[in-house]
Amino acid sequence: MKGRLGEFELIARYFAPLSQGFPGACGLEDDVAALAPSPGKEFVVKTDAILAGIHFLPSDPGGLVAKKALRVNLSDLAAKGATPKAYLLDLLLPESIKEGWIEAFARGLGEDQEFYRVHLIGGDTDRTPGPVTIAVTAFGEVPKGLTIRRKGAKAGESLYVTGTIGDAALGLRVLKGAFIGLDESAASFLVERYRVPQPRVFLGPRLLGLASASLDVSDGLVADLQHLCKASRLSAVVEAARVPFSPAARSLIGQSEEERALALSGGDDYEILFTAPKEAAGRLARLAEEFDTPITAIGAMASSLGGKHSVTVRDEKGRPLDFARKGWTHF
Ligand code: ADP
Ligand code: MG
Repeated sequence: MKGRLGEFELIARYFAPLSQGFPGACGLEDDVAALAPSPGKEFVVKTDAILAGIHFLPSDPGGLVAKKALRVNLSDLAAKGATPKAYLLDLLLPESIKEGWIEAFARGLGEDQEFYRVHLIGGDTDRTPGPVTIAVTAFGEVPKGLTIRRKGAKAGESLYVTGTIGDAALGLRVLKGAFIGLDESAASFLVERYRVPQPRVFLGPRLLGLASASLDVSDGLVADLQHLCKASRLSAVVEAARVPFSPAARSLIGQSEEERALALSGGDDYEILFTAPKEAAGRLARLAEEFDTPITAIGAMASSLGGKHSVTVRDEKGRPLDFARKGWTHF
C-alpha cells in the first residue's frame, strides 16, 4: 500500500501486535504463517468479505466495522461446532482513509480477539480505487470428523434456533427511517442487533454430539432453512407461533403481519439453526440455561415428497404462509 503511512509501517504498528500470542504468525514478519490443529482435531475454514456501502455504512466507525468483519466469519465456525483459533485479514483501503479509522479498526479487532480468544496470523494490505473492502478468513478447530454439516438431519427430528430471530432485519428498517413512534430503547436494541452481530461462538461447540445438522442464519431463517433441507434431502415445517422474537421485535410484529414475514425472511441474525433428535431436548434445555440464551424448538423435519425439499411456515391456524411474494399472503 502506497500512501502517507506506508504498508509496512501500518502492519507493524497496528496489526503485528494482534499476532502476539500465536508463534506461527512470526509477528507478521514472514511471508506465511504456520498452523496445525491440536491433536485429534481438524480445521474448518471460512472466508467472508464486507464492503462499505453494502455491508456497512462508509460513515461507520472503524471499531464497529472490524467487529462485523470478524464476527460474520466466527458465526459460520460456531454453527459447525468449531472453536475459532486464528484468522487472516485482507484490507483494501481507498486513498481517502484516515489513520484514525485504521487505529480504531485495529482496536476493535483487539477487543474481539481477547473476547473470542482468536489471533491475527497474516493477511494482505492494498490500495483500492473502490470502497473499503475487508475480507477475513477464519480457522476453527473441531474434533476430527465431527464437523456439524448442513446435511445429516433426519426425518422426525426437531428443528431448533438459538437466540431471537428478525431483530437485525427490523433494525435495518429502523435505520432506514421506518417504525416512527417505536419506543427508543426498542429501536436502539434492534439497530444494535443489526450493527454488531453476536455470533454464538461459545455455544456452537457445545452442540457437538447434539445437533445432527446445522448452519448459521445470515440470509434469513426461511432461506437458510431451505439450504439445510436441500443438503439433508428433507423438508421442514416451522410453526410461526413458536419462532422466538425479542420483546422489541414482538412490539412491531404484533402490529402487522408484514413485519412478522420480514422477521422470518430478513437476514443478519447470526443465530444457529440446527436439527436434533427428540432425546436431545433435555440437554438442550440445560444448555440454554447455562448460556442464558433461548434454544427454541420451532418445527420438525419431514421426508420430502416427489424430490421437493420444501420449507413450510404455518400460522396459528395451521395455514401455510407464503414468502415467495414481497411480504406474505395466505394461500
Ligand atoms: P508479500 O509482499 O510477500 O505479499 P506482504 O508485504 O503482503 O507480503 O505482507 C507481509 C506480512 O504482513 C505477511 O506476513 C502478511 O501476512 C502480513 N500482512 C499484510 N497485511 C496484513 C493485514 N492486513 N493483516 C495482517 N497481516 C498482514
Ligand atoms: Mg502483499
